[in-house]
Amino acid sequence: MSTHFNSSEFPLPVVGADLTVPLVTGETVRYVNLDSAATAPCLAAVRDAVLALLPWYGSVHRGAGFASIVTTELLTAARETIARFVGARSDDTVVFTKNTTDALNLLASALPDDTTVITFASEHHANLLPWRTGKHVHLLVPRSPEEAVARADMAFRTAHSRHRLLAVSGASNVTGELWPIAELTALAHRHGARIAIDAAQLAPHRAIDLAALDADYVALSGHKLYAPFGGGALVGRPDWLDTARPYLAGGGAVRRVTLADVEWADGAARHEAGTPNVVGAAAIATACRVLERVGMAKVACHENQLLEALTQGLRAIPGLEIVSMFGPDSARVGIVTFNVEGAHPGALAAALSAEYGIGVRAGAFCAHPLLDTLIDDGRPPAALRASIGVGTTLDDVNRFVASLSDLCRRGAKWRYRVEQGQYFPEPDPRPRPALHEDLPLRDLASPRSAPPCRHGVEVSSSSSPRVSP
Ligand code: PMP
Repeated sequence: MSTHFNSSEFPLPVVGADLTVPLVTGETVRYVNLDSAATAPCLAAVRDAVLALLPWYGSVHRGAGFASIVTTELLTAARETIARFVGARSDDTVVFTKNTTDALNLLASALPDDTTVITFASEHHANLLPWRTGKHVHLLVPRSPEEAVARADMAFRTAHSRHRLLAVSGASNVTGELWPIAELTALAHRHGARIAIDAAQLAPHRAIDLAALDADYVALSGHKLYAPFGGGALVGRPDWLDTARPYLAGGGAVRRVTLADVEWADGAARHEAGTPNVVGAAAIATACRVLERVGMAKVACHENQLLEALTQGLRAIPGLEIVSMFGPDSARVGIVTFNVEGAHPGALAAALSAEYGIGVRAGAFCAHPLLDTLIDDGRPPAALRASIGVGTTLDDVNRFVASLSDLCRRGAKWRYRVEQGQYFPEPDPRPRPALHEDLPLRDLASPRSAPPCRHGVEVSSSSSPRVSP
């Protein structure tokens, strides 16, 4: 499937770019999605590729029908594309997973006996909890990239297991800050250890080159990479994976089964029992091809410009403090997390949604130990995060900054109730789109038609950004 568009054009077309949403006050505005770090919108090219694939969708591996042959070849091609996207070595294994969490759990289940895993306390829970089933060392949150390398060095010197694995994020999902993965990889290898990179936040924003880095494993999620169809991947060295117990036992993971015995497959198949998520895999591969064509350097450049505008705008808001591990000017992907003095981040997020039509995320971002370290003011640690991606525009950033300043200056106009620490508009009169209802058969026959919306919630088809008053 080809992906045609002008690579010099940002924002890249994403599904929902012109979505309009209701406010509690009754108006309708264009939705500003600044929540890509949680889950990114689908690239229009990915949606098109999925729609093109669906008529050909069939069983993989042993299906004899032509659709099965096409689907099987698509899955193989998706594996190759993802391998190329992360700069894998020719003998690296690409295992399809559900997401990054699944990929890291898979790797944790494949560690050889007597392995110590070293992680920083700053990691996302997906890169902390899977390792706790074995020997695991937590390092304190470092306050500079150099300190990260020094702490890891010390940990390698004192962990005397036969195998050591450093599991580290490429970019923080809380602060967006980039980790010194080249230095950490070199360090791990000097100590005869391995490194696994949690690239959930890195892959959508920066080029990854496993071979050039000489890093051992990388894990990523399709839904953060503009391909929200339930796929992810673990890519890396085959030896541990080929000798580990299969992640799932079942069909497809075996060479031969008798009632008494089983001969497991090696390679990716060993860990991919069951019918694979071909749509998810093909969607990720399409996103990879789009990003390759555009060039990750241009992606980074687009995001850096927006990031600059975002940080400048935020810094002008009185009492606003940006959260950081490595300092205010450290290199980061398109994520900014902050707090505003005197305002609960959950209250701000709820009001930004309800009164301004802006989607951001508040909370502890599945990184509780990091928030405990960075926000130590006696309250349950929480902050507000705005994140940008290839579909974000300067208008999005400007509207967010203007709305947040307005909200901080004037306060919320609506009432909110707090339930289990979360803020909800009270009442919440915003009509929901009728997505859970069956479409009329006429609409089902036309896959591109938007789902019908009721009560004035409208999915606009115009391509120019609009903001209703
Ligand atoms: N690692 C990081 C750095 C993340 O940001 C996330 C998602 N927030 C994950 C791991 C887990 O990703 P997923 O939910 O797709 O498994």
